[in-house]
Amino acid sequence: MLTTDIIVIGGGMVGSLTAVALAECGFDVALIERTSPAAFASEKHDLRVSAISHATQRMFEAVDVWSSMQAMRVCPYARMRVWEGDAKTEFDSDSIGRPQLGHIVENSVIQHALLQRAKDLVHLICPASIEALTPNSKGVTVRLDNGDELSASLVIAADGANSAVRRLAGITTNGEPYDQHAFVATVKTELPQQDITWQRFTADGPQAFLPLTGNQASLVWYQHAEFIASLKTLSETELVTAFHENFPQELGQVLSVRGSGSFPLNWQHAVNYVKPGVALVGDAAHSVHPLAGQGVNMGMLDAAALVDVVAGAGRHGIGSLRVLRRYERWRQGSNEIMIRLLHGIQRSFQPEAIENGLLPQSAIEVARRFALNAAQHVGPLNKQCIKLAMGLAGDLPELAHGRLPGKKQIVSA
Ligand SMILES: Cc1cc2nc3c(=O)[nH]c(=O)nc-3n(C[C@H](O)[C@H](O)[C@H](O)COP(=O)(O)OP(=O)(O)OC[C@H]3O[C@@H](n4cnc5c(N)ncnc54)[C@H](O)[C@@H]3O)c2cc1C
Repeated sequence: MLTTDIIVIGGGMVGSLTAVALAECGFDVALIERTSPAAFASEKHDLRVSAISHATQRMFEAVDVWSSMQAMRVCPYARMRVWEGDAKTEFDSDSIGRPQLGHIVENSVIQHALLQRAKDLVHLICPASIEALTPNSKGVTVRLDNGDELSASLVIAADGANSAVRRLAGITTNGEPYDQHAFVATVKTELPQQDITWQRFTADGPQAFLPLTGNQASLVWYQHAEFIASLKTLSETELVTAFHENFPQELGQVLSVRGSGSFPLNWQHAVNYVKPGVALVGDAAHSVHPLAGQGVNMGMLDAAALVDVVAGAGRHGIGSLRVLRRYERWRQGSNEIMIRLLHGIQRSFQPEAIENGLLPQSAIEVARRFALNAAQHVGPLNKQCIKLAMGLAGDLPELAHGRLPGKKQIVSA
């Protein structure tokens, strides 16, 4: 049986950062990932991309993977425009003296760079999946589907929204599915992509356009599940026509579709983030509507906060509830606020919510437009929105400042 300080289950973006950062802090870490990740494909963009905040970029810098992501492919953006009808707000990195607001990075680039780094630092066990989780006198024993057993003081669940660890630990969630799916397409455009991401709100749901490198972009179309299902039956020519008819033309015509897919959406929040010897991070702890591009950034802040708490645990023991609750108190409340905010924005576009609610549609539209205009014209509010989206505001952990917390002596729970 392999015995380590910490076992991280799930080598996605959040789990692999967590494992690498903890190893850099001096912990002996095992990382278990179910699926062998595909190699980086230089000729084709991954369908799944994420808007990465400054805070997340600093974490990548702290564990020395940002330069390898840049060497693969990242796309900086300096402006973000959000509008509905004639009400609009634009956020500009110049207004806070920064070269960019963030970067659009393919999920596979992030995972690939982190797992390459993990190979040098942790016991990477892949492909393998968790089957059982049992408390023992010193922490937790994990049994894998290949029959191997591992033991550690702390097991970190980074195994995504359908987390097996969360289920095995008996942690429940609140949440519900959205009656809205996301249709994502990588498209080739007439114009080279600019340094801007945009999001347009329509009565049927938001639409987003994220720049990729060269003449390519990622379109996201949020709509009812039936509508998204109908998009999936269209030929490429019909899809290009649908984009042409429904998306704004600012960034030039869509010429072709290089890949597309759809994702069901839900919100979900774990009732507890921790149990003795177990902690949840990333989508294992929370899923949000992706309209503001916050999901993975929230998960990275979980990872960074947990690394701070665990690195600072000293003789109280890294798996003890007393230590782990510090992490829960740090992250659960702010994640709840973000989940509610995004849920509220999403709900304000649901026709049935409007019909059943106290406010008529016109009042909700006025409120939305008022908020957009206020964000545009009230300077301090505009700057605060930028700082929040960039991960530059709030109680930030060390990693989010680009620093590794001090390497601590490990004492079991
Ligand atoms: C359409 C769309 C657009 C989005 N855009 C953005 C954006 O712009 N910005 C942003 O911040 N977020 C965005 N998100 C959200 C973001 O993709 C998620 O928050 C993020 O992927 C969560 O990362 P994670 O590592 O926690 O979980 P996951 O990405 O789900 O990774 C979990 C990992 O665990 C592994 N695993 C699962 N079960 C097991 C098991 N039993 N044993 C071992 N391994 C296991 C999986 O193989 C996987 O590698 C978007 C989401 C969607 C759907």
